[in-house]
Amino acid sequence: QCISACPVGALTERDNTHDVWKALSDPTKYVVVQAAPAIRVALGEEFGYPMGTRVTGKMVAALRKLGFDKVFDTNFAADLTIMEEGTELISRLTSGENLPLMTSCCPGWVKFMEHNFPDMLDNLSTCKSPHQMEGAMIKSYFAQKEGVDPKSIVNVSIMPCTAKKFEGEREELSNEGLQDVDYVLTTRELAQMIKEAGIDFRNLTGDTFDNPLGLGSGAGAIFGATGGVAEAALRTVYEVLAGKDLDAIEYSAVRGLDGIKENELELPNGKKIKTAVIHGLGNARQVMELIQSGEKHYDFIEVMACPGGCVTGGGQPIVNAKTQTAVNVKQERAKAIYEEDQSLQFRKSHKNPYIQMLYSEFLGKPNGHLAHELLHTHYVKRAKH
Ligand code: SF4
Repeated sequence: QCISACPVGALTERDNTHDVWKALSDPTKYVVVQAAPAIRVALGEEFGYPMGTRVTGKMVAALRKLGFDKVFDTNFAADLTIMEEGTELISRLTSGENLPLMTSCCPGWVKFMEHNFPDMLDNLSTCKSPHQMEGAMIKSYFAQKEGVDPKSIVNVSIMPCTAKKFEGEREELSNEGLQDVDYVLTTRELAQMIKEAGIDFRNLTGDTFDNPLGLGSGAGAIFGATGGVAEAALRTVYEVLAGKDLDAIEYSAVRGLDGIKENELELPNGKKIKTAVIHGLGNARQVMELIQSGEKHYDFIEVMACPGGCVTGGGQPIVNAKTQTAVNVKQERAKAIYEEDQSLQFRKSHKNPYIQMLYSEFLGKPNGHLAHELLHTHYVKRAKH
């Protein structure tokens, strides 16, 4: 379990279940929930399922029974992140500026950069993380479409991560005075609420997410494992640059549990995208120092603070020592993530029809004016510690 790897000092989990119960019982509030990719492959462990069991449908059914007005999927916003970050990568590859582009969906990594490599903040993608993007779309696009007052909306994110609680409070992650995300619950807190409500989780009939912000592609699903963001980005960036559909979309070179994985993808024009995938902040520091000294060059870097990525985030079910010796937790949960990818109808972010609809009805184009206003952010140089 990666609590000790959490670089924002969130070693003690702050309990937000009371806040969420209060919002759910307030008839003036419109309470919307979203769940990250890594939740559905771990929540079942809290209800006696073997590690690596996917419980997506039961999770949605439980969230509905808890009384949320809409149940959306962070995987949708992971697709949106790929549209925005992929476009950012293409434009940086074209201009040659601020390379390597570094992912920004892990708040532990972002804060690590702010403290330790403040002179390289321009390399971070300006994209908000997926749940913040989803929150921003709920309070703008969805609110407008449904005729709901954004001020009455309470956005709740179910995350595998204690650092996301800090991220949700960053004042730059807001629009017109409203935070994108109001409360973050961990997987363990969600399990606690399901138990408190007396819901018989194992006997629930599976349900599906609400739309228009509830359909995620397989590319969005793999964000939960180390290498997933890079693979999802490459699926889209390659097709956009090649101008044709690809059949072989699984990039095994960025999968697996090596701490630093390198990959070179050749584009149809002969140019190459050099990618590094890193998990664990010790490995990240090592690579950053090699980049600074000029010994290494990359175009694109994915970093996840937790070893294994979000599947073993600090908010996931606790695994006892005996099970940890018997089972490779990172591997089992990641296996379920890749199964989820294979089970989905759409496996590339840009093919998600609801993503296409969001751009045509509301955002215009990726990296366009409105997208910049609602989906991008900036970072703060912080003191070294
Ligand atoms: Fe949170 Fe995932 Fe980053 Fe861990 S890897 S700190 S769970 S976002």
